[in-house]
Amino acid sequence: MSESTSDLIKGKTGDWEIVIGLEVHAQAISESKLFSGAATAFGAEPNTQVSLVDAAMPGMLPVLNAHSVAQAVKTGLALNAEINLTSVFERKNYFYPDLPQGYQISQYLQPIVGAGTIVLDLPDGGTKEVGIERLHMEQDAGKSLHDQHPNMTYIDLNRSGVTLMEIVSEPDMRSAEEAAAYIAKLRSILRYLGTCDGNMEEGSLRCDVNVSVRRPGEPLGTRTETKNVNSIRFVKQAIEYEARRQVKVLEDGGEIAQETLLFDSDKGVTRSMRSKEEAHDYRYFPDPDLLPLVLDPDWVEEIRRTLPELPDVKKKRFVADFGLSPYDAGILVDERETADFYERVITGDSGGRDPKLAANWVTGAYFAALNRSDVALAEAPVDADKLGGLLDLIAAETISGRIAKEVFEAMWASGKPAAEIVADKGLEQISDQGAIEAIVARVIADNPKQVEKFKSGNEKLIGWFVGQVMKASQGKANPGLVNRILKQKLS
Ligand code: ADP
Ligand code: MG
Repeated sequence: MSESTSDLIKGKTGDWEIVIGLEVHAQAISESKLFSGAATAFGAEPNTQVSLVDAAMPGMLPVLNAHSVAQAVKTGLALNAEINLTSVFERKNYFYPDLPQGYQISQYLQPIVGAGTIVLDLPDGGTKEVGIERLHMEQDAGKSLHDQHPNMTYIDLNRSGVTLMEIVSEPDMRSAEEAAAYIAKLRSILRYLGTCDGNMEEGSLRCDVNVSVRRPGEPLGTRTETKNVNSIRFVKQAIEYEARRQVKVLEDGGEIAQETLLFDSDKGVTRSMRSKEEAHDYRYFPDPDLLPLVLDPDWVEEIRRTLPELPDVKKKRFVADFGLSPYDAGILVDERETADFYERVITGDSGGRDPKLAANWVTGAYFAALNRSDVALAEAPVDADKLGGLLDLIAAETISGRIAKEVFEAMWASGKPAAEIVADKGLEQISDQGAIEAIVARVIADNPKQVEKFKSGNEKLIGWFVGQVMKASQGKANPGLVNRILKQKLS
């Protein structure tokens, strides 16, 4: 494990270290809400997915959704965390127009999941372990719509009561990059598990960003908390802005107020929202409508057995079995679909394609084409078997690597298999000794000056000659043969 990528801030009076802890709210994938049977699909007409429980009608009683509990347990297990067999739902009391109950049912002193860990993959290829303090379940609130009427706010309760898993990290991160890597890794794990879709744009994954600064080696400083940041880019911007702001305040002799902030993504700045509330402000108490949640250890073990191979294990396997670099393996395992696609490319029906060649093609030309045409893997015109077919032609030396790029683009445009395109366009590599000798002879005859320079010691010119022969063959000559024949004829 590498040391942290600690980005020290150079202040007027010396260096400062950034300390970051993240609270991620992840909506659990579930057909129905945490305590009601109402639907949870994103994008429905406002107030069409609201049961009497979600609207907090008097006398309504919450009924716990077992599937949501299973999702939280599954997530906890994947975070190497303790599962607490007894947990307690409490009321967190506060007033807000989109919270009709006047309290949120959450977990406080006894959350369902305790301490765990997550391994970050850092941009330099290293890794770093970050502590998870807890994961607790709670209800989401509704939404206030401020843009529907010039001087009124509308309320949409579709989101009211949807299951949230709040995942709280230890203050273990030391740079904006590490925070970004944390969210990326957590999102990757949630998607592997199918416990949250991780879609930050739709708000199914939101992040509260806690930031403080200190002199290296000193105790933790006072933190601020920037609420509900909804993209990784904004999280990084908020951290960098906030850390610099705090350093300036401290160097000017001020103190950091423990505040709750909002991030203004248009201006790239944080802004004060309210002074930080303390736990006692919420008057937490166990919800009298709900019994303590007691889990059967066998049920937890059953869930453990359903866990898929997770990204860290898959990455290690790709490095060990396929000889990939940790960096390439990390890219390939980031999304489960990509990892499956890659494995399908190298295995095909018969198995045995070159894993490194396949990794280069998937992370290179293939990803570039996906990005360019903005399609998802499942809808791409070239599927794993077709890409595998192209690799087979390269391996059999039917086409050169250069021509393969051209063939790939034609496959992407037409959806046709590689072999068909190569046959139609006559792109087979020329590996016929006599044919190449003829071209080499022509190139040598046409360039007496270069030949002389080469013979008088400028051996670097060999590259130029190869280029000429390749050009004359429209890129189809077998480059290995061209090299060998040229060296023979020129010496
Ligand atoms: P609250 O619910 O009041 O926000 P929590 O203890 O649930 O408090 O969460 C606090 C979050 O802030 C955690 O992610 C923790 O790692 C982080 N944190 C705590 N102290 C600091 C600090 N001094 N600097 C940065 N982050 C901190
Ligand atoms: Mg908080």
